Amino acid sequence: MIDYNKELKDTLEKIKQLNKKPKLLLHACCGPCLTYPLSLLLDYFEITISFYNPNIQPYSEYERRLFTAIKFIQQYAKDRNAEISFVLPKEDFSHYQEVMKGRENDKEGGINCLKCHAYRLFLNYHYAYTHHFDYFCSVMTVSSKKKSSEINEVAQKLEKMFPEVKYLYSDFKKENGQLKGILLARKYNLYRQNYCGCLVSLNERLSIASMHSLAKEA
Ligand code: SF4
Repeated sequence: MIDYNKELKDTLEKIKQLNKKPKLLLHACCGPCLTYPLSLLLDYFEITISFYNPNIQPYSEYERRLFTAIKFIQQYAKDRNAEISFVLPKEDFSHYQEVMKGRENDKEGGINCLKCHAYRLFLNYHYAYTHHFDYFCSVMTVSSKKKSSEINEVAQKLEKMFPEVKYLYSDFKKENGQLKGILLARKYNLYRQNYCGCLVSLNERLSIASMHSLAKEA
């Protein structure tokens, strides 16, 4: 089994020896998941954050997560006295829905999530390729709900499609990465959502919440 955290550390060690920071496109799914990976990578790369997540529904929630991420980036850049760029590639919400058609009855963690990850990673990786980044990485491996191996394996295939952009392997949840992220999100007073993003995950969360309230009433 590949130790993706070790892969990351080895790459960072090599980058430290360079006299120039490579350009990294870092895909962020939301502000709280971005906190720890950004804090870790900022010393090594010239970073641009990309927020390309047409999976987030409803639109008010999408906006809330987007503004949370922007607020964090601005404040964090100030605090670290660093330059952090941000891009918002044009989302195509209806194309995402088309791609996910037929998976409406899946549960979180099934084939729907594999498709959803692959879709977002492809679009973000493609952006990195067309905009001549040296590296691409996604913060999604920080979440304990996501299998880092699945994300890294998809991205490994994309690296073969776009070999000019190296993929930065990661397993940000290792070494208490998720907890460090939660603490940073608290420090910056960030909104933290309680579902992954799509309506499947929202409905699952709502039905768990209603089961809990029924159990309390019983
Ligand atoms: S649960 Fe999350 S990863 Fe899975 S399909 Fe929904 S938004 Fe995508």
